[in-house]
Amino acid sequence: MSDTVRVRFAPSPTGHLHIGGARTALFNWLYARHFGGAFVLRIEDTDRTRSTDEYIDAIIEGMTWLGLDWDEGPFRQMDRFDLYRSYVERLVQEGRAYYCYCSAEDLEARRQKAMAEGKSPAYDGRCRRLTEPVAGVTPAVRFRMPQIGQTVVDDLIRGKVVFDNAQLDDLIIVRSDGTPTYNLTVVVDDVDMKITHVIRGDDHLNNTPKQIQLYEAFGYSVPKFAHLPMILGSDKTRLSKRHGATSVMAYHEMGYLPEALLNYLVRLGWSYGDQEVFSRDELTRYFSFENVGKAAAVFNPEKLLWLNQQYIMAMAPEALAKMIVPFLAREKVIAEGGSLDMAWLGRAVKTLQERAKTLVELARSLRYYIVEDIDFDPKAKEKFLNEKGLPLLKELHAELLGLAEFTHDGLEGVFKAVVAKHGVKLGALAQPVRVAVTGGTESPGIYEVLEVLGKEKTLKRIEKAIAAIG
Ligand code: GLU
Repeated sequence: MSDTVRVRFAPSPTGHLHIGGARTALFNWLYARHFGGAFVLRIEDTDRTRSTDEYIDAIIEGMTWLGLDWDEGPFRQMDRFDLYRSYVERLVQEGRAYYCYCSAEDLEARRQKAMAEGKSPAYDGRCRRLTEPVAGVTPAVRFRMPQIGQTVVDDLIRGKVVFDNAQLDDLIIVRSDGTPTYNLTVVVDDVDMKITHVIRGDDHLNNTPKQIQLYEAFGYSVPKFAHLPMILGSDKTRLSKRHGATSVMAYHEMGYLPEALLNYLVRLGWSYGDQEVFSRDELTRYFSFENVGKAAAVFNPEKLLWLNQQYIMAMAPEALAKMIVPFLAREKVIAEGGSLDMAWLGRAVKTLQERAKTLVELARSLRYYIVEDIDFDPKAKEKFLNEKGLPLLKELHAELLGLAEFTHDGLEGVFKAVVAKHGVKLGALAQPVRVAVTGGTESPGIYEVLEVLGKEKTLKRIEKAIAAIG
């Protein structure tokens, strides 16, 4: 079946692309890529009160950022009403669907009565056998569900899930205002787009038997299904804003790498032995539904952060430098639209990338390399910029003046000579210098820092520190 797999991601644009939606998109994408199939993007925008163009853009932005490229679409259901109409006409002509003239009020009253009598609240089938239209009433259209037998959902994750047809209502497929309903549009589109596998959240499982009846009514071979387990927050309730950021682009803003988020998302339900870090290539190679569990997955922000750090550490400094520029602007380390020597920035990034968990942290930590002037952290200043360090700083300054090139080894030579002369340990000099040039007490190795910072800034900052002591 390798070249016949066709899957789709079918978001409703009623919000941003969130963690759950992105995982559904990812599993579809992986399945398509694994089999060399097609990944279709379909926007289910028929809910006019909640769908917006901004959300469509936001979903596309999120998918693009994650690198989940689609092969066909984006299609919009709002553009496809003629198609839905023609499919419905076919069902009516074949007697598989019928017009229903019951008003909303009547339906509700009958439902209440049935429930009070301990009967099923399902549609009572009143219009099933009507042969003549009811004058003056615009009807809805209902699908004639089988009333006996069973519908079996053969799910790639859950196995066989059996539904009694007696429980399936005669589904409204077109409302009396002429708009098609969700279950109809999904099935018509899946048929029209020749979808072979429906991969979606298991909140849709109860719709699936109804949809299977519709596929069959259209004479379409029923797609395979994979209903993905829910994603929960740490308190085991459904993941929501209460648990922190849920929108994919919020993670972009917080300084997560798309590869890290993708890697994290795939593990929400899927596993491959105890491997945690996967390249995109490995994911497409290894992915299968056999390794997707049935149990709900718990979203763990700490693990995502850990993964992000792994990805930041592993990146080429030059690539990371390019990525960090907008974050530097946002953190006001550089002016908006400001430019930097990118080769130099790559060297600066290299010294810090092991320490940063997010791009925001990395951008903040780069500050002392980039800005002209730094402030001393008051505690660090009190502890290290004092009379004890003063002669050491003065001596170092004089020696550095004469050092032509700021290389790691050259700097090491100077530092070692100064501490030897004063009979102190390296830390007695390195810490005051660290505070002088970075403002604080934590930084990469001091020679690496000075090498990147360069002679001019280093000397100026040591002068400022000497002045602050004196
Ligand atoms: N539009 C539906 C949703 O966003 C998805 C329908 C489907 O995948 O079948 O939940």
